[in-house]
Amino acid sequence: MGRIVGIDLGTTNSVIGVLEAGRPQVIANAEGSRTTPSVVGYTKDSELLVGQLARRQLVLSPRNTFSNLKRFVGRVWDELEENSLSVPYTVRANTQGNVRVTCPVTEREYAPEELVSCIIRKLVDDAETYLGEKVDGAIITVPAYFNDSQRQSTRDAARLAGINVERILNEPTAAALAYGFDRSSTRRVLVFDLGGGTFDVSLMRISNGVFDVKATSGDTQLGGNDFDQRIVDWLAEQFKKEHGLDLRRDRQALQRMNEAAEKAKQELSGVATTPISLPFIATGNDGPLHIETTLERSIFENLCPDLLDRLLVPVKSALRDSGWQPDQIDDVVLVGGGTRMPMVKQLVRTLVPNPPCQSVNPDEVVAIGAAVQAGILSGELRDLLLNDVTPLSLGLETVGGLMKVLIPRNTPIPVRQSDVFSTSEANQASVEINVWQGERQLAQDNKSLGKFRLSGIPPAPRGIPQVQVAFDIDANGLLEVSATDRTTGRKQSVNIKGGSNLNEDEIQKLLNEAKLKAEEDRRKRVSIDKRNNALTLVAQAERRLRDAALELGPYGAERQQRAVEVSIRDVQDLLAENDLHELELSVASLQEALFGLNRRLSSERKIDSNPLQGIKNTFGSIKDELFSDDYWDDDPWDDPNRPNMDRRNMGRRDLDPWNDDFYR
Ligand code: ADP
Ligand code: MG
Repeated sequence: MGRIVGIDLGTTNSVIGVLEAGRPQVIANAEGSRTTPSVVGYTKDSELLVGQLARRQLVLSPRNTFSNLKRFVGRVWDELEENSLSVPYTVRANTQGNVRVTCPVTEREYAPEELVSCIIRKLVDDAETYLGEKVDGAIITVPAYFNDSQRQSTRDAARLAGINVERILNEPTAAALAYGFDRSSTRRVLVFDLGGGTFDVSLMRISNGVFDVKATSGDTQLGGNDFDQRIVDWLAEQFKKEHGLDLRRDRQALQRMNEAAEKAKQELSGVATTPISLPFIATGNDGPLHIETTLERSIFENLCPDLLDRLLVPVKSALRDSGWQPDQIDDVVLVGGGTRMPMVKQLVRTLVPNPPCQSVNPDEVVAIGAAVQAGILSGELRDLLLNDVTPLSLGLETVGGLMKVLIPRNTPIPVRQSDVFSTSEANQASVEINVWQGERQLAQDNKSLGKFRLSGIPPAPRGIPQVQVAFDIDANGLLEVSATDRTTGRKQSVNIKGGSNLNEDEIQKLLNEAKLKAEEDRRKRVSIDKRNNALTLVAQAERRLRDAALELGPYGAERQQRAVEVSIRDVQDLLAENDLHELELSVASLQEALFGLNRRLSSERKIDSNPLQGIKNTFGSIKDELFSDDYWDDDPWDDPNRPNMDRRNMGRRDLDPWNDDFYR
């Protein structure tokens, strides 16, 4: 069996971790960073870019570069808020009302899950390279507040990436795992996670390796982006006042302002004032226009009081649900880049008297926790037990459109609950089971997770048939619903897939497509890798030749130097001809030639390790050549280009004044 990794699939940044020798660790990506921007893009040649490379083309190609995709995962078009839609690329609803992302260069539409799967794939690919073995499964974290369809869709995305999801884990729970996995005392912990696009709060009790989540709450539409937006608006309003132009209407200008705003926000976490400079942001009547200004932290803070107020709501609600008082909380774990803002830290201090814990890195703690969970599942870590809760109430629609709750929010999972329902009309032959998730009294105001019909109920007066409806929530927080007619024993059950953006057929189609493409991609990659390797080797060989000429003189290692030169030419010719098979052979002989030259160089250096090396080299190399076996097979003196002097004498061992034996 391959490894199981932990993935923090963030709205803004993603991180992958693994348990190594019993300790959780973050794995750096191919670019060397420990966090990977959750951005996917296509170049103008339709080449897929993921992470930092994609992020880099955000400004240049805003329509073909997709960020903040997590906002769309598992959500249907009608649920999306206005501000979710303010992305620089095009999103639209397909005929089923599902969200689709349009990409002009590939002339295709993508389900958000499909693009997210590219992020998962990259994380896993880089992890496999690092680990040197295959990754089979992953723990993927989601905001605690994610509803059932968002969880299902996250799992779909992993499936599309060819990864088995071993567990869906709530992000704050993961953070607590990371924080408390080697602590033994009993503590009450508040996890406060402000990411790029979501805000999550959890209260839990950690005691001797048992993690009990008491309450969880959050806001799926509140994050660091909203703070950036305030700066963007501030910049745009100022600019409008001055020049009468609204920069927010220009995609590229908007994207540049977004980047500048985020950078300013981050800098203001460390300094009190920061410059913002956006030259050539627009063209006015008299030529180019620029933004050149400074932002003070106090001004920034004055732009966002309502955002801070919104942070309070879920904290209060979680405290209420847990029945704990703020001063009973022992530790606050800050998670997510957004908690680096001083105003957010201050807000937390006004909520809970104890200072927040600084020992965990807010960017990595979730992935670390996911890696710990991977260790628990694989049996590598024992004595840890995780008791999570369901974030939202689950229920059925009953007469009058009321929501009848079967499983209240914050119920420990896994859990099974059932209740008996009946018909509302005489001789009703079937009942419709309509499943909802949310806290509102009217079912309509909550999120529909799907419906199904139990039919074949024998004729009877209203209220007589007994239909038992059971809800099962597994450890991933995923729901299965079943309904049984007690008289006939007839049973119907469904995995709720109501809000998932992709149906099973679509997933299968994408998987098949991916399989076909994977082979093509692999071939392409192999060929690119081979060419790159050859180029690198040629550059290296040329450098060694120069070294050899400097250290040994132009003819110091004639035979080896020539062999390298000839092989370089071969490789270059084959590169031009694009013959991969022959190229591989010529690369091998270049490697061999280079090895010979290197060995020659290093043996020279060993002999010449004294301060008079420079002078000695001249003699040394000749000396070596004279006494080497090759010398007499390949007479260097036949070469017409050789300098005209008798070097045989100079090279004679007994005449060499620098030879150690000389003075003996
Ligand atoms: P997610 O979990 O959504 O992927 P992260 O936890 O990576 O998000 O946090 C990303 C957010 O944190 C972004 O909005 C980013 O601008 C913000 N951020 C990162 N560093 C800082 C900082 N030093 N000060 C303020 N905000 C920051
Ligand atoms: Mg996060």
